[in-house]
Amino acid sequence: MTARILDGKALAAGLRARVAERARAAGIAPGLRFIRVGEDPASVVYVRNKDRAAAEAGFDSGTIVLPADATEAALLAEIARLNTDPAVDGILVQLPLPPQIRTQAVLDAIDPAKDVDGFHPVNAGLLATGRPRLVPCTPRGVMHLLAEAGVALPGARVKIIGRSAIVGRPLAQLLIGADATVTMLHSRTRDLPAECRRAEVLIAAAGRPELVRGDWLSEGAVVIDVGINRLPDGRLVGDVAFAEAALRASAITPVPGGVGPMTIACLLENTLDAALARRGLS
Ligand code: NAP
Repeated sequence: MTARILDGKALAAGLRARVAERARAAGIAPGLRFIRVGEDPASVVYVRNKDRAAAEAGFDSGTIVLPADATEAALLAEIARLNTDPAVDGILVQLPLPPQIRTQAVLDAIDPAKDVDGFHPVNAGLLATGRPRLVPCTPRGVMHLLAEAGVALPGARVKIIGRSAIVGRPLAQLLIGADATVTMLHSRTRDLPAECRRAEVLIAAAGRPELVRGDWLSEGAVVIDVGINRLPDGRLVGDVAFAEAALRASAITPVPGGVGPMTIACLLENTLDAALARRGLS
């Protein structure tokens, strides 16, 4: 079998256009603010791309930059100001933060109604109790990709490698909500290849380059590769050995161009959701 390549770039472009159209039809320009602390090169690029995508969708978008030696109190003061600013619907603090700032204290300070990353404990708790509101962007993007792949989730054996709070755990909650039979795999899992072979849908979010080999897959499995890993030679690869896996899977996401673009599109979708909810329009 040769797998269908799930084109996240094209799917994301379509989703971004639909979000822009929905905002325009509602007559609103959702307000989104990014906060970046310091000049970490990857963070500079990530925030610039997200800010640009939001502006292209017609959002009122902007970035606040604090110096690398900013105190936690200074960052919390900025968040408090944005929490009460009626023009702001969404707040995103780019991670990682410098060591003098406690990440959880910062994430906990964001108004849950403006928490477009979906990392606040209130939003995580709502998702875990089956009442999702603002959910993390990458898992939301994976759900779109599974729909695009035509996967019938009720009863499907879905296995997730990785149990982080930003990818694996919230994704498991979304899949449980969609009636899938979900198994979490992680670094303490015994016989990872055997577990993977039983998956009808395998989602890899381990951050380990090409961990999943072709012979770990059952014939016809759908494979979603969340991993983004930079090799010493500069190449970007996922958590799945793509060429091998594509010979057995029925559908697979590439890296880059799979899950990554969907994450940004879902940030816009979350921000529109937050903006509509704050205006009583949802
Ligand atoms: P993380 O916090 O480091 O979590 C990694 C998870 O994978 C952990 O649960 C860990 O298990 C598990 N794991 C690590 N090595 C393993 C192995 N050899 N076998 C089985 N399980 C293993 O990572 P993350 O933040 O979730 O990110 C995961 C990957 O997704 C990274 O490559 C990241 O760059 C990428 N990512 C991509 C996007 C996107 O937009 N495409 C967004 C977010 C993240 P333990 O819990 O037992 O330690």
